[in-house]
Amino acid sequence: MEDSYKHKGLRKQLVQVLQKKGIQSSDVLKAINKVPRHFFFDEALLPHAYQDKAFPIGEGQTISQPYTVAFQSEKLEITTGQKVLEIGTGSGYQACILLELGARVYTIEYNKKLYDRTRSFLPKMGYRPKFFHGDGSLGLAKHAPFDKIIVTAGAPSVPGSLLKQLTIGGILIIPVGDSKKQQMFKLIKIDDKKVKKEVFNNFSFVPLLGEEGW
Ligand code: SAM
Repeated sequence: MEDSYKHKGLRKQLVQVLQKKGIQSSDVLKAINKVPRHFFFDEALLPHAYQDKAFPIGEGQTISQPYTVAFQSEKLEITTGQKVLEIGTGSGYQACILLELGARVYTIEYNKKLYDRTRSFLPKMGYRPKFFHGDGSLGLAKHAPFDKIIVTAGAPSVPGSLLKQLTIGGILIIPVGDSKKQQMFKLIKIDDKKVKKEVFNNFSFVPLLGEEGW
């Protein structure tokens, strides 16, 4: 698939939309401007690739809305070389944005078909996070701790395993709520007992499955 001037133009427009909606980080906006989102779409959905909307990617799952991807990425405050765990690889789009931000990305997906598909597809675009298949509601204990953790599916509550696997000073960004609507929690681990919490409204994700999910 090619990345034409038209696609690049549409990406620029998307970046302007995200700026208007409040995304400020120039690094995040640059990353959105760089990653060809249309590469992640089926032929029939291509015209929608640069709308600020979530879309189906098969297996009943979605590629998140660009605003949500940008919002979560901005809140993570990633600096180059940080070790970041993403829960819910899905299409791999969010993982590409994290890589563009300079993170060392570990990404885990529960659905075997999506895991297989994305693990073979992303390297063809030149993006190489470390891929894992399994229940990310339990984190990835073998590779912990992580500087940052991002959950891209809606959780019923904050999984204790994820807080445990965060470095002191680390940030966990996770949507928490019911199956339709969630609030976005930004949790900063102050020490082993203390967490600072910020809450943002109005997000809607597919459910986080697994032991500490639904
Ligand atoms: N980050 C993705 C992207 O950029 O396309 C979007 C993710 S989609 C909204 C949510 C993903 O979380 C789905 O692919 C789903 O299979 C996955 N998921 C749900 N529960 C999970 C779990 N316990 N562990 C890992 N992945 C999970």
